[in-house]
Amino acid sequence: MARVALENLSHSYSINPTNAADYALKKINLSWKDGGAYALLGPSGCGKSTLLNIISGLLVPTEGRVKFDEKDVTALSPEQRNIAQVFQFPVIYDTLTVYDNLAFPLRNRKVPEEGIKQRVSEIAIMLELEDDLSKRSAHLPADKKQKISMGRGLVRDDVNVIMFDEPLTVIDPELKWKLRSKLKELHQEIEVTMIYVTHDQTEALTFADQVVVMQEGEIIQSGEPVDLFERPLHTFVGHFIGSPGMNILPCHVKDNVALFYGHSIELEGPIIRSEGRCEIGIRPEHIQLGTNGIPAVVVRAADLGQHTMVQTLVNDTGVNVITDGKPLEAGTEVNLCFDPRKTRLYSESRIATAVAQ
Ligand code: ADP
Ligand code: MG
Repeated sequence: MARVALENLSHSYSINPTNAADYALKKINLSWKDGGAYALLGPSGCGKSTLLNIISGLLVPTEGRVKFDEKDVTALSPEQRNIAQVFQFPVIYDTLTVYDNLAFPLRNRKVPEEGIKQRVSEIAIMLELEDDLSKRSAHLPADKKQKISMGRGLVRDDVNVIMFDEPLTVIDPELKWKLRSKLKELHQEIEVTMIYVTHDQTEALTFADQVVVMQEGEIIQSGEPVDLFERPLHTFVGHFIGSPGMNILPCHVKDNVALFYGHSIELEGPIIRSEGRCEIGIRPEHIQLGTNGIPAVVVRAADLGQHTMVQTLVNDTGVNVITDGKPLEAGTEVNLCFDPRKTRLYSESRIATAVAQ
């Protein structure tokens, strides 16, 4: 097991990178403690797999260092780094049985057969593969093959880090939920550092203690799931996390007051910056429909079972509201009340308010 540190890491796939756009990763600095459960979360193409492959040793970064504990492993191969990696699509030996596939990484390490038997059967039970152990892998459905692939990653208990790159892509929704909770349980049991890459916020937020949000090759925010939801430091995080995401509303700042279509908006605390493009960020969950507040018109409303999602318009700007009330008809005039403790100013996409003392 190891603490993982990335120092001034950048990576370009082009031979002669000239500008920022040539870099798939731009100046990444990160330190992950030993035994943690981490997620890398971001949209497709933001550099998640590139980062993971640099940590595992499949790729050598253009610049910067990778350290496991205090040891510089930047130049070491994946084998020398002693990591396990599970990919998006199954990597298994089709001609072998499920048992032999799971046993493979242990046989490679010369673990005695008795020990192998016990460990393989534990992993098979966990992944619900115990009835398939004697079957040849070739004819199994894709989700079972992927479970074998995950099992091969999990079977060794002497690895430094286990890494998963969008491992549930080929798994159907119900099993997805099950496997995700199993992974979390397993992490609590074996306490190996695990890094889980996904573009799916639910997967990231349920699996990880710490989530790193990436956009265009950069780390935008790293924190506990509750921090990312409660106080996004960047509008991208606010909008990407949540369903629907945070409302990002155009505003301008005059005499230290944020104005949204002329309405002054009470914020969580003092404004610390107001350069460039300014926006107000407020989550749909933190807006109430009341009798005084910002006038808006309902565009549509949907009953989502536990709550109601109301889409409104203030002038030309859409504002989503999540309430406990009944769905309102389109055209209904309402007033929006923002919870000031959850209302923030962003300048050039970055948080620009301080928490009130
Ligand atoms: P993600 O895993 O978040 O979807 P990737 O790390 O795969 O993102 O890709 C990051 C960027 O690097 C993308 O712009 C992608 O097109 C580019 N890229 C990825 N792999 C290669 C490669 N082998 N050669 C050239 N460009 C690549
Ligand atoms: Mg990827």
